[in-house]
Amino acid sequence: MKNPKKHLQTALLLVVLFLVLAVSDIVYFPISHERLDFVQRFMVRQINKSWGEYSESMPKEKVKIVSYENFLGQFNFLERRFVERVFAIDPKELGFKGAYFSKKTVDDLVLIPQKTFEMPDGPYETGINYMPGYVYADYEKMMEAMEKDLGRRLYIDSAYRSPGYQGAIFFYYLGEKNNYSLKENAGWVAMPGYSEHGSENTALDFINQDGISGEGKDQTSETFEQLPEYDWLMKNASKYNFYLTYPRNNPYGVNYESWHWHWEKK
Ligand SMILES: [Zn+2]
Repeated sequence: MKNPKKHLQTALLLVVLFLVLAVSDIVYFPISHERLDFVQRFMVRQINKSWGEYSESMPKEKVKIVSYENFLGQFNFLERRFVERVFAIDPKELGFKGAYFSKKTVDDLVLIPQKTFEMPDGPYETGINYMPGYVYADYEKMMEAMEKDLGRRLYIDSAYRSPGYQGAIFFYYLGEKNNYSLKENAGWVAMPGYSEHGSENTALDFINQDGISGEGKDQTSETFEQLPEYDWLMKNASKYNFYLTYPRNNPYGVNYESWHWHWEKK
């Protein structure tokens, strides 16, 4: 080696250049809707890590109602900048055609205790859920009727989700689950403010007593559709103000979700 100092300088220069490019990529360069580049994919993992640490540090009952401001506020500058850039994209550009509701958290929610299901690949916990009182009243009435008819009832896998929590799950699914593709992700998870789970009317994602939600391991929308509980919902849910939002080929650009029923007073 003739001039080790010069080699070191070149190496340092390359490192600095790479860092400048990486930071520019996060704060400024275009974001692909098809698949994030490797720096942005790294950012998604960092964002999920930060949220994971933050959510574990807060009381369990606060996780699904975290405010959008607190969700954003716990990130470092680069993470926050990237999150804000992603959520500044018009979801219509990603194929999502649903309505915008609000980025405010709904008040006066009823707490639904966590439930654990023993599944073949280990226990599954729903976490603590929430829903507005008027939705809870109709849900209870509906389950009483279902229990009378079928001797079974449906439990809550997910109900009200604050826009802050919606932001967290958007990024969780944007990772490996949906191949770091914003378009693919938008077919499953709404952006904060656009989810029925975050609206005043909320949506409920059901799970049956055997832990079948359609979203578990080796389960699909069809798995839930084949349940007698689903059949019962199709015939009776509207009497209790619940409606299937995303049937096959729905106009919202969202995949078929047999488990997702929204509350609406018609
Ligand atoms: Zn849902």
